[in-house]
Order: sequence, then structure tokens, then C-alpha cells
Amino acid sequence: MPELPEVETVKRGLAPAMEGAVIARAQVNRPDLRWPFPERMAERLTGARVNALRRRSKYILADLDTEETLLIHLGMSGRMTVSGDPLGQFVHEHPQAEKHDHVVLDMDNGARITFNDPRRFGAMDLLETATAGSHKLLAVLGPEPLGNDFHEDHLVAAFKGRNTPVKSALLDQGIIAGLGNIYVCEALFRAGISPRRKAGQIAAHRVAALVPIIRQVLQDAIRAGGSSLKDFRQASGELGYFQHSFDAYGREGEPCRREGCAGSIARITQSGRSTFYCVKCQR
Ligand SMILES: [Zn+2]
Repeated sequence: MPELPEVETVKRGLAPAMEGAVIARAQVNRPDLRWPFPERMAERLTGARVNALRRRSKYILADLDTEETLLIHLGMSGRMTVSGDPLGQFVHEHPQAEKHDHVVLDMDNGARITFNDPRRFGAMDLLETATAGSHKLLAVLGPEPLGNDFHEDHLVAAFKGRNTPVKSALLDQGIIAGLGNIYVCEALFRAGISPRRKAGQIAAHRVAALVPIIRQVLQDAIRAGGSSLKDFRQASGELGYFQHSFDAYGREGEPCRREGCAGSIARITQSGRSTFYCVKCQR
């Protein structure tokens, strides 16, 4: 499942193909993904210029010159592919259409954007740009972890009196937008905080220290995506997925990488999801 850094790399990969370009042809091959597509989606997209791409949490937002914004959510298994050669950097033919290619956008610069999603947990919607922030999916979101509204005072206040484990508090999208299982495990590892500890019982200075750590964990992952993919693309033109090594996530039974710690990484289940952490140095 793509997390925030993957979605950010998808956005950065789409930008050179989409920003400033006009959607010359929109092909919508089914009526819905997770939810029905908006009415006349193909018609409303055709002829629209993409003014800018943004990311909010795990949503990609394409602001159009029609005063509408295309919201794209990759869901569990959604993949975006760019083919064609808008910038003359790649020789890349359009691939054969595949099963599960649900939406295909042909840009006037020669690029083709394909959204493929076998499990169909993804979503697309068209929102009025001026009020996009009040869309039901976006209105519930807390501050962006890489934005200015996410700061020490915010997190300390959000944790105060909270009786849930810190892992659950960090996964709460109303506290921080877009943080998922993998990067919560990584941030808590770097912070040396046990994922089982109650959020409200962690000293304020340790909560505050999580803020720069969360930012760093996400930025490191985005950087890894940028360095392992050429222009954020795989050779196939697929965007956003990359090899990345984690310190805690997925390392059950392996030695802890913290200097001087002789512990090993354990896996427990919290709220139905795996948590990886070092029992010895995460307190
Ligand atoms: Zn350790």
C-alpha cells in the first residue's frame, strides 16, 4: 500500500508530464473504482489544462483551469504510469493496454497517464478547486507532516490526556495527515519510544522530539525514491515504488541497528496491524 513518500514520488513523476499540459483525451473505462466516478468525468477532463499538481496526505490533487480539481487516490494497489516522451528524455512507447487500466489521460504534449488498479480501492473525484479542502476526504485531515502547521506544540497538545498507544495516535489522520504503519514504526524506532506507550504519558520533550524525526523519516524516504528512480519513474514508466531499507519495519528477529543496543526487532500486533520495534531500546 503506498504511503506518503510513495505518493509524493508519484506526484513528482507526474508533474513534468502533466503540469502546464492540456488533457487532450480522457478515457474512462468503467463507472467506478472504490466509489462511482463523478458524472461526465471524461467530458469534464477533456480540454482542461493542468495548472498545478499538489499532494494532500495520500491524495494527489491536479488543479485544472476549469476551476475544478482532480483528486486521485491510489488506494491499496493503484499504479500510475507515464508513457510517451513529453520532455524528450526517454524513448518510451505507449505500452499495450492492460486489464485494469481504468483511466487513461492523453496529454497534448504526447504523454499518456494510465491509472491501473486491480483491486479497485483507489478513487478519483472532481472537486470545485475553491472549496476542495472541505471535500469529505480532505476535511477530516490534520496538518501535513512536512508542512508548517505540524509542529511541537500541535503534537504535544494532541497527545495530552490521550489514553491510546502512541502508535495509534500517530496513525490518527486527524492528528497528522498521511502517516502510515511503516513510517510510524520507523519514527518511533528513531525516537527510542515504545509503540505501546500511552500517548498521554510520554514526556512533552520526547513528544516534541518526534516532530523533526517524523519529518526526517519521510524526507529520507522521498529522497530514496528520487535517487533510485530516474525522474521518479521505473524503466517501465511506472511511478512511485522504490526499494527502501527500514530500520524496524519488516525486520522481525533481526539485530537492532541502534549503536550499542544488543536487542533485536520484535513484531507485535496493535489494532490489527503489525508493529516492529526493539523491546530493549524503545522505552
Ligand atoms: Zn535496540
